Amino acid sequence: MAFDSLSEKLQNVFKNLRSKGRLTEDDVKAALREVKMALLEADVNFRVVKQFTKSVQERAIGQDVMNGLNPGQMVIKIVNEEMTKLMGSETTEIDFKPSNELTIIMMVGLQGAGKTTTTAKIAGKLKSKGKKVLLAACDVYRPAAIEQLKINGEKQGVEVFAMGNKNKPADIAKAAVNHAISNGNNVLIIDTAGRLHIDEEMMDELVEIKNSVDVHRTLLVVDSMTGQDAVNVAGTFDEKVGVDGVILTKLDGDTRGGAALSIRAVTGKPILFVGMGEKLSDLEQFYPDRMTSRILG
Ligand code: GDP
Repeated sequence: MAFDSLSEKLQNVFKNLRSKGRLTEDDVKAALREVKMALLEADVNFRVVKQFTKSVQERAIGQDVMNGLNPGQMVIKIVNEEMTKLMGSETTEIDFKPSNELTIIMMVGLQGAGKTTTTAKIAGKLKSKGKKVLLAACDVYRPAAIEQLKINGEKQGVEVFAMGNKNKPADIAKAAVNHAISNGNNVLIIDTAGRLHIDEEMMDELVEIKNSVDVHRTLLVVDSMTGQDAVNVAGTFDEKVGVDGVILTKLDGDTRGGAALSIRAVTGKPILFVGMGEKLSDLEQFYPDRMTSRILG
């Protein structure tokens, strides 16, 4: 289960708080120091942790809370609310163009983050909502990426537009748009190439695709197990290409949770979905409040 080690630590802090009938300021401060440690160990961004504990402390050390009937429970409630706020509070849906106009979504991310898999996962989700989806295979460098997209597209019952690996990604994207329009598709999802590390060439190529077709939303796929690296990657992609939303993959294997808890606060970009496994059905809409409940128990 995701975030196991963070959950365990925070639940221990809460158990302590609950066991106390009355709370002093020092009790609250001591508990928040432990919360802070647990979050830092979970690889949550340092500034985010600082701001988070400051907000909780300001709200918790007040007359209403300290003199209330159940101060421990109140502090826990405040932690819960602030953590939900950290992850964005509201659920963000993919935004489509009005009426039945073609919505073009570009998927970006580093190689291995789970971009191609996630592209097919999203295609399935949108199809089940009644969208007529076309996938475009623009990852022309990674061996087998095109084949992988074709296989997964077929599993999802979604057509995949591919032109092999001899054409420029921007040209494939343009041809895919024409195909989508003549085919009556209302969503086109473009799978792009990632590299192992961020480099100029990759960014230039993504910008070129963006300049060639009318990309409505750019979604970044990052591996949640990489913690703060994922947050830094998101910052760079946003700066160079522009990102509208984030998908955090491999949450099923992430015992820490640092990326999930930092990425919204650091980049300002909402998390739309989380990947919970390798199967094409393992993609969940991201609900900040439910994620908080998962973490805090
Ligand atoms: P790409 O290079 O970004 O296109 O990455 P792929 O889509 O090929 O995914 C890389 C690996 O991560 C594959 O083995 C996927 O099955 C795996 N993967 C993708 N998303 C998830 C996820 O949410 N959970 C788990 N456990 N594995 C995932």
